[in-house]
Parts: sequence; structure tokens; C-alpha cells
Amino acid sequence: MSDSYWNEEIETMSAKAVERLESERLQTQMEYVYAKSAYFRAQFDKANVKPESFKHRNDLEELPFMEKYEIANSQLEGHLLGINQCASQEDIIRIHATGGTTGRPMRVGWTRRDIADYCEVGSRALWANGCRPTDVVFECMNYNLYAGGVSDHLCFETLGATTIPFGVGNSLRLLEMMNEIQQDISIWATPSYAIRLATLARENGIEPQNIGVRKGFFSGEPGMQVPGYREKIEDSLGLVSFDMYGTGELGMHSGECAHRNNLHYGGTGVVLTELIDPETTKPIPFEEGVIGEFVYTSLRREACPHLRMRSRDLMQVFVEPCPCGRTDFRFKTLGRSDDMFIVKGVNVFPLGVQATLSSMRPKLNGEFQIILDRPPPIDYAPRIIAEVARDVPKEQYDVLISETMAAIANDLNFSTAVELVEEGSISTEKKSQRLIRDY
Ligand SMILES: [Zn+2]
Repeated sequence: MSDSYWNEEIETMSAKAVERLESERLQTQMEYVYAKSAYFRAQFDKANVKPESFKHRNDLEELPFMEKYEIANSQLEGHLLGINQCASQEDIIRIHATGGTTGRPMRVGWTRRDIADYCEVGSRALWANGCRPTDVVFECMNYNLYAGGVSDHLCFETLGATTIPFGVGNSLRLLEMMNEIQQDISIWATPSYAIRLATLARENGIEPQNIGVRKGFFSGEPGMQVPGYREKIEDSLGLVSFDMYGTGELGMHSGECAHRNNLHYGGTGVVLTELIDPETTKPIPFEEGVIGEFVYTSLRREACPHLRMRSRDLMQVFVEPCPCGRTDFRFKTLGRSDDMFIVKGVNVFPLGVQATLSSMRPKLNGEFQIILDRPPPIDYAPRIIAEVARDVPKEQYDVLISETMAAIANDLNFSTAVELVEEGSISTEKKSQRLIRDY
């Protein structure tokens, strides 16, 4: 086995072979969901198709989309797992939660084989990230209810890394423990937690670079592809960072390789991903640089399968070969399709604004919020509140405001009304919410 891949056969498979594998598994999965679930049977009947007619991924286009709220609503009615439950209770061994659409966590069930698949695709992504059995990994995700805890933990264990289930909170104790260990260590966390850890270290007289964290595996928040943000993390802790992507419904499945040229799709053979135009819902062919929404269809899921489930996540896809030899497509997240807004015909993503503001370091620290004061059409200049670095004097604010507005107009092609605030003015809990529709 080559040291480059977790699953060389799958990760370097030709497009033709992937298609064959998908078609074969699709057929089995369709027959399974049709037999096990009244909801899926109704979907097939509505479209007037039979499970045995699915021979190729393109055949999926005949079926309607599935929306997260359909599952969430059925859970509100009292279902343990909701309309897409296909396995019987005795075969389901774990339930964790994912952020729902109703503001309540949505429950997702897993059988033993589902968990094994979760760990398989998670290991592919982690291996691409450069995680190895020799790594000592502090897992600093929330173990409470969410997939980022126990289930992701098991991916690290499957790969063979020495995994320390630290969880979130108690950060000072974490720093002390890390500092005590006189060998290189790794961290699995959200990127904003890494920044918080570096700040906390400095506040407590510990030089963050001396803690010894040399590899950072990050997930749970967008922003890692924004150059300034990533550099801030790497410089402050002295580590190499890798981006990772997953969802509570599917698990973590995609990660960057050493070339760090976006995320390698790692769900091959387990989840089939389509790309659609979120407005027209028409499929978009996978070509270099195209943008669309991911739609997921399970190929082996027993407990809670998905059939053309809309992710509402917008992605840019890349198909040019990567020097690492992985063959399936690569992608980067552009944000929730719900977070996109249109200013005078220009599509704007909060991540784009983040990239521009990050390029203005060290004057700005990269924290910001976009405020939309009135409902669309947005024919006005949206407000952007941005934090200024501590050492910039107030007299310079006016010039900096003009520079910021010019940079956004230049990079992103729309006008803004920028307001500057002191570092720390945007509360930590609100930091992940970049877009506020204040109407
Ligand atoms: Zn690669």
C-alpha cells in the first residue's frame, strides 16, 4: 500500500470505474429504500419510476429533491429519526444531531455499517490531510450530541492516530496539557478556536508557537480558503493547517492534500454528489471552475438514506488533475446558498468579503459583519461593520474606511457603507454569523 492514500483503489479510480461502481450501488440502494420506506416509495410513485430503472447517475434526474425540512418536520411530529428511516430500531446503534432548519437539532441515525462507512470516508479525508498513525491528536470539537465529537473521533481512531478526546471548553487546561507534552502534537478543531487558543496562550504568558502544535486539521466553519485567515492561524501557532469538509448528515468526507489546492471529494462509492443550479435546479456538468449546489444521494446508507437531498451549500468545483494522484473532483465551499445576496445584479458571498478584508491585514483584523437593513432588491450599499487592529489610531479611521470601500468595490464589484469598530466589538458568539438580515 502506498503511503499517499488511505484507500488507493477508490481514491485513484478512473472516472469510468467510478461510474460503474456508482451505478451498481445505486441500484441496490434504490431497491433497498423502496422496500423499506413508505416515504421513498411515494417519491418513486410520484415520479412514476421503479427502483430497477436506475442504471446510471443521470437516471436520478427523474426523481424529486429531498429537503432537510421534510425530515425535520417529521421529527417534530414525534418520529425518532423521521421519514427517511429505513433500518429497524435494533440495527441502529447511534444517533447524533445536526443543525436543523427549524432551529432545533435534527436527529440522524446510524447502523454499524453506516458508522464503518463514516469512518472510511473520514479516514480518506484525514489521510489526504497528512494525518498518520504516528500523530497525537487533541480533538477539540463538541462531543455533546454532534457528529464532530464521537463520530469524527472514531475516524481518527480508524486511521490509527492517537486521539485525545478533549472536547470544547476548559481551554487553559488544554494549553497546559499541550505545553507539558514535549513532542509534536496535532489539533482537530474549528479554525476560530485555534485563533482563540493562541490569544489565550499569549494572555497567560505562553508563547503559542512553543506549544508544539504542528499540524492543524480544521473543519466546521468556512474561511480556511481565505488566505489571510489561514496565515493568521499558521503564523500564530506555528503549524501547517489543512481544511476538511463534512456535514452532520454525511460525516466528514473531504479534505485537502499536501498541495492544498481545495478539498478532494472523498465520498466516492458511499455518497453520490450531483451539482445543480440552485435557482433552476437543473444539473450542472462537473467542469473546471463551475459553481453550483451539492445534492447528495446515499449509495450504501442503511439507517437514514438520502435521495437527492439538497444541501443548500454552494460549491466551486475543479476537475483538473492534482499532482497527488487523487482522481475524483475537488471543490471549495462558497457558503450557504441562503447567505448569498444580490446587490444590483452582482452575486455576493460573505466569504468573498472576508477574503478582501483579510487582505487588509494588519490594519483590519478580518472580523466583520454584513448588515442588510432592507429586504431585496438590494439597490442600496449594504453596511459592513469591520474590526480595526488595536494599534490603529482613531484619526486614521476615515482614510481606512475609504480604502476598505475601494477594495471591496475593486475586488467584488459592489458598493458598501463601511463602519469601523475597535477590536473585540463584535461579540465572539456572533462571529460566525457574517450576514445579518436586519429587516
Ligand atoms: Zn491532491
